[in-house]
Amino acid sequence: MSTQAKLAKQCVANILAAIEQAEDELARLDAFAGDGDHGAGMVRGMRAAHEAAQTAEGDLAGPVIAAAGTAFTNAAGGASGALFGMFIATVGQSLNAAPDTENVCRAVEAGVNVVCKLGKTKVGDKTMIDTLMPFVRALEEAAQQGLTPVEAWSYALPAAKSGMEATADMVSGRGRSSRLGERSRGGLDPGAVSAYYMLRAVADTLNTP
Ligand code: ADP
Ligand code: MG
Repeated sequence: MSTQAKLAKQCVANILAAIEQAEDELARLDAFAGDGDHGAGMVRGMRAAHEAAQTAEGDLAGPVIAAAGTAFTNAAGGASGALFGMFIATVGQSLNAAPDTENVCRAVEAGVNVVCKLGKTKVGDKTMIDTLMPFVRALEEAAQQGLTPVEAWSYALPAAKSGMEATADMVSGRGRSSRLGERSRGGLDPGAVSAYYMLRAVADTLNTP
């Protein structure tokens, strides 16, 4: 097996571990302004994604990630299931055979754009996009500075964290929590937190020697 497919599988395994560890926290965050099912949905989705990734064949990272995304969509359910699944699948489908920083950036951007389009969402709506969009913008900066993909991912992670943290003061404009209006302010968006944990698990994997 090539190191590329192996690395992608390790990323998916470490995302699953991070999401399993955060299940109760994600459930609590979703209970604040939603229905409390976000932790369970993410764990269900990532277990299916992990199984699909581990059995995916070939040497490339893209198809491993694409298979994980499709399995996630089918298993997770809920608004976030379809959106996270499409995000992961689109990133996988958009990765080149030999991805450089520019291509990694374009692939993540393609995934983010699909979520914005399907979810009719923009930055400031208190969703996963508030984590993912600043991350993509920072990846672009990193690409312009000539950083390697591994360096770029670590460089962009703090922007994702800041974006996630900013959701606490936002009023939800999309999804179930938007029904609460002003009362949705004051808690972190669960999908934004999941997105950050996923990105961080990838950074941890890439930085493991
Ligand atoms: P549900 O709302 O169906 O119970 P989850 O609880 O699993 O689904 O996921 C809620 C998360 O999904 C939110 O925290 C938000 O980040 C994300 N989300 C919901 N609607 C949208 C949307 N239209 N666009 C982007 N993200 C969304
Ligand atoms: Mg929910």
